[in-house]
Parts: sequence; C-alpha cells; structure tokens
Amino acid sequence: QKQEWAKLKDEPTKTAEGEHVELVANIGTPDDVEGVLNNGGEGVGLYRTEFLYMGKSQLPTEEEQFEAYKSVLEQMGDKPVVVRTLDIGGDKELDYLDLPHEMNPFLGYRAIRLCLERDDIFRTQLRALLRASVYGNLKIMFPMIATLEEFREAKNMLEEEKVKLAEAGTDVSDEIEVGMMVEIPATAVLARQFAKEVDFFSIGTNDLIQYTMAADRMNERVSYLYQPYNPAILNLINNVIEAAHAEGKWAGMCGEMAGDEIAIPILLGLGLDEFSMSATSILPARTQIKDLSKKELASFKEEILSMGTADEVVAFVKEKTK
Ligand code: PEP
Ligand code: MG
Repeated sequence: QKQEWAKLKDEPTKTAEGEHVELVANIGTPDDVEGVLNNGGEGVGLYRTEFLYMGKSQLPTEEEQFEAYKSVLEQMGDKPVVVRTLDIGGDKELDYLDLPHEMNPFLGYRAIRLCLERDDIFRTQLRALLRASVYGNLKIMFPMIATLEEFREAKNMLEEEKVKLAEAGTDVSDEIEVGMMVEIPATAVLARQFAKEVDFFSIGTNDLIQYTMAADRMNERVSYLYQPYNPAILNLINNVIEAAHAEGKWAGMCGEMAGDEIAIPILLGLGLDEFSMSATSILPARTQIKDLSKKELASFKEEILSMGTADEVVAFVKEKTK
C-alpha cells in the first residue's frame, strides 16, 4: 500500500473524472515543511502560528516571526501557504500574558477577540506576515470570527499596516488573499454575507463540531456527541461551500475531518475545493480520491443532507463507496 501511495507523491490530486482538488497540510512550525513536501503536499492549508508564542517567557518579536514565516514561504516555493493569525486562549494558554481565568475558556476571550483588543500583539504579527509575503504565495486567515464586524476590523488593521509599510518603502505582495476560518456556527449560517467580503473560507471542524453539538472536543463523557457526520454539521458545511461558490470564492477545510476516510467522499460531493490535513494523511487521501467520482458523489448530496442521523450517513457512504 505504501508503494501505491508513493507513486502519487508528485502527482496533482485528481478525482476519477480527472478533476483537480487541492490536498494541503496543517503545520505548526517551519520544521514541519519538510514532511509536507515529502508527503506530496500541494501547499500548507493551516499554519498554526501559536507555537511561536507558546513555551516561551515573552512574546515573539516581529523579527523572529518574520524569519519563521519567510522560512515556510521560501521552502514552499510558489505553493500556497495559508497562515492563521494567533489563536490563543481556549485550551492554549500563555503564561506571560496573564489572561484571566474563565469559567468557559472555549467561549471566552481568545483568538481574534484577544487580537482585536491587544492590537499591539496583532499588528506585530501582521507586519511580520506582510514583510514575509514577498517570499512566496501567502494567504492570511483569521481564527474564531463570529461577526462581520470582527472580520472587517481585522482586515482593516491588516490594510493599515500594509499602508504604513509601503510608506516606509518596504515591499509587500499585493496578491495576498485574506480569508477566515469558519468554526463558529453563526458564520456558517451567515456564510452568504461573509462570502461577499472574504477571499476564501477554511472550515475549522474541530471547533465547528464542538460549538454546533455543544460538546467539548476534549471531554470523553460527551464524545459520543462529537459527530462529524451529523447532518447538522454537513448542512452547515454545505452552506459554507455553496455561499463561497456563489461569490466565486473557494472553500477549504482544515479540521481533522478533512483527512477522514468517511468524510472525504461526502466533502468531495459537496464540492469542497481544498482539504488540509496532517502531512501523513495526504498520500492515502490522494489514493482514495483517484477512485472517487465527484459527479456521482454530488448526486447523493440532497439525500445525505436530508438524513436524520450520523449513523445513517455513515452506512450510506460505506455502501456507496465500497
Ligand atoms: C479547527 O478548529 O478545526 C482548527 C483547525 O483549529 P484548531 O484545531 O487549532 O482549533
Ligand atoms: Mg479552531
């Protein structure tokens, strides 16, 4: 099996009818890029930048960040690199920020909420990203967006830093796509409106599932409710993809679900454009997709979206893909 995967390492990902879909990887540090390239990744779909901030005694400087982003972009050449701005809070703490203890950290002060308030931290990161943008194919996305105002405010800050850098004579790419993660149900419901203002969506199912099912992603007692194939989740995902396409934008997914063997045929049928997963899942996924007909899977869409339970969905997909 490993041999069959290896043959596809330098091939683009194609469905049975030859349509291209993008298989990209999730990374946490510049050192992870080697694994992405060795596993035939077509890009980076999620660079979790919080590792730059964790396990230290102070905030990373603009220079440190610039070097990390530049390294990832250079190693990836012209392949796309989606960098997610700081997603701290929730389960990820930073000792030196002295964040208040909260009853519900996953519903609290985290990610873009913190960045918009602590814009000193945020603007430093944005400047480092903008300066690094000339070294590759950079796309930027904001985590945990709940409202349009948040997206607009974050994007405004990015634009302001861009103007300042340009005035100072620093080169910045003018082709940076700016998107958002869809991991809060409100944004999946309102995807039509968001799609007019973003360049792309990346669906973060790890959080989208926990917020939609009201089931903590780390809590074993309620893990039976953490259901990626629940039709409620699939309908939200479909809404996001349809909204993106209606505005001529692309939709990807960077949660664990994107690399899941049962989910892949469903997502392909819903029209997902980009699948971002751990590097070691890329070749198995490419091998699986080469035998899947996107057209046929798309014809099951309405039936799957009308189902009532996750079990029904799983049984149906197994039957149709066996
Ligand atoms: C997600 O929520 O699906 C996601 C990719 O982000 P993280 O796992 O880092 O919260
Ligand atoms: Mg998340």
